[in-house]
Amino acid sequence: MAPRVDPVASDETLPARADVVIIGGGIIGSSAALFLAQKGVSVALCEKGHVAGEQSSRNWGWCRKMVRDPRELPLVIESLRIWERMNETVEAETGFRTCGIMYLGETEADLARLESWLEHAREYQLDTHVIGGAEVSQRLTGLGKKWAGALYTPSDGKGEPQMAAPAIAAAARRHGASIIQGCAVRGVETAGGRVCGVMTEKGRIQCQSVVLAGGAWSRLFAGNLGIELPQLKVLGSVMRTEKLDGGPEVSASGGRFGYRKRMDGGYTISTLGVRTIDIVPDSFRLALDYMPAVRVHWKKLRFRFGAKFAEEWRMKRRWSLDEPAPFEAVRTLDPVPDPVILDRARESITDSFPMFRGVKIAESWGGMMDVMPDAIPVISAVDTVPGFFIATGFSGHGFGIGPGAGRLVADMVSGSPPIVDPTPFRLSRFTDGSHPRPHPLAS
Ligand SMILES: Cc1cc2nc3c(=O)[nH]c(=O)nc-3n(C[C@H](O)[C@H](O)[C@H](O)COP(=O)(O)OP(=O)(O)OC[C@H]3O[C@@H](n4cnc5c(N)ncnc54)[C@H](O)[C@@H]3O)c2cc1C
Repeated sequence: MAPRVDPVASDETLPARADVVIIGGGIIGSSAALFLAQKGVSVALCEKGHVAGEQSSRNWGWCRKMVRDPRELPLVIESLRIWERMNETVEAETGFRTCGIMYLGETEADLARLESWLEHAREYQLDTHVIGGAEVSQRLTGLGKKWAGALYTPSDGKGEPQMAAPAIAAAARRHGASIIQGCAVRGVETAGGRVCGVMTEKGRIQCQSVVLAGGAWSRLFAGNLGIELPQLKVLGSVMRTEKLDGGPEVSASGGRFGYRKRMDGGYTISTLGVRTIDIVPDSFRLALDYMPAVRVHWKKLRFRFGAKFAEEWRMKRRWSLDEPAPFEAVRTLDPVPDPVILDRARESITDSFPMFRGVKIAESWGGMMDVMPDAIPVISAVDTVPGFFIATGFSGHGFGIGPGAGRLVADMVSGSPPIVDPTPFRLSRFTDGSHPRPHPLAS
């Protein structure tokens, strides 16, 4: 079942031209549209379904700096600064609140492993620190189980995924951006080797720059342009409870659960790190790129072989711009959640918080994450197609960093000084001999 997402008004007419066309109305595309529009750049955002229909409404809503890959830290620090002012900026409720996030350690060994991330926290003067079991019990109301301790970042926060990207897109529209929903972009047109427009299912838009913020669809889109983006899809499964009074306010994960208290008084619950991977043709094409990540995360992966293989095998990988593209066949990617993951999460959270035992699960959903071999995004110009930019591959943690990433893209496209150094996010890291790998601790 798809979670209900706040609606955003659509522009009915396709503009003949815009300075920048953004492909995808998730948190990344919407944030980029807002920051570009605020700079006075003319923007058209095309979304094949509706704003935040895919990952951006289906995530847990954690906005965290803690236990990030150090390469992401400067950007996520900026992103949290933007989140803190977000409700004011967009003049609407995005659900952002500073609530603190904890990673619980069951044993001293777990705690020591988490503690080793503190060297990165110190480098950026973050407030992340280790707390003992007694303080964990005192801070997490309703906790019934004893934990050895936790890594805790009081300044980390949360947003409401079903409200945030829509509020940002609506603000972009008020600043002059066109938001066209139900409009898949089929491909990019070039003249003299550089971008001159896009072809959508509703017609052509002339433009100087294009930003691909297509989430799980980005590899397919880029591939049709001859750009190799080594991105895979991983299923996350989530449930939402009915309102539950007297539970913890601080978001936390431990054992096989992770949760966030929602604005509606219920909890979003899932399990951190355990993810379902359907074996598809790309699993074989990209096997070598993902070996280092599979070695690091082996215990947390659940591989499945089934109908997805044939489905993706049959999907067109090349098409011309005058014929329907595969994006038009799937308006909203709405995968079925994995019941094994949900059962594990439910069992694990009730083991720690007995108050969750009888609570009714109001709904559950799946979300397809777009991952990269080194689990950090691509936010990059594409040298072979001047005017084409990619902002994708947020690897299961793009909601928190999303506004910062949108700002960085806007800076790059408009030629402004970038908010942070974008070098770690360059596309060429996969071909320049850097051998990108995931950080062993980051999640
Ligand atoms: C279960 C789950 C839990 C998560 N938890 C967290 C969390 O707690 N914290 C966190 O920071 N992150 C989390 N994430 C990750 C986060 O949700 C994503 O990284 C982030 O939402 C990615 O945003 P996006 O805009 O890149 O992609 P999306 O939100 O997927 O948006 C991409 C959009 O592009 C559109 N599109 C694609 N191709 C085309 C085309 N050709 N034409 C027009 N439109 C197109 C799609 O329809 C889609 O709406 C989680 C993800 C999942 C699935």
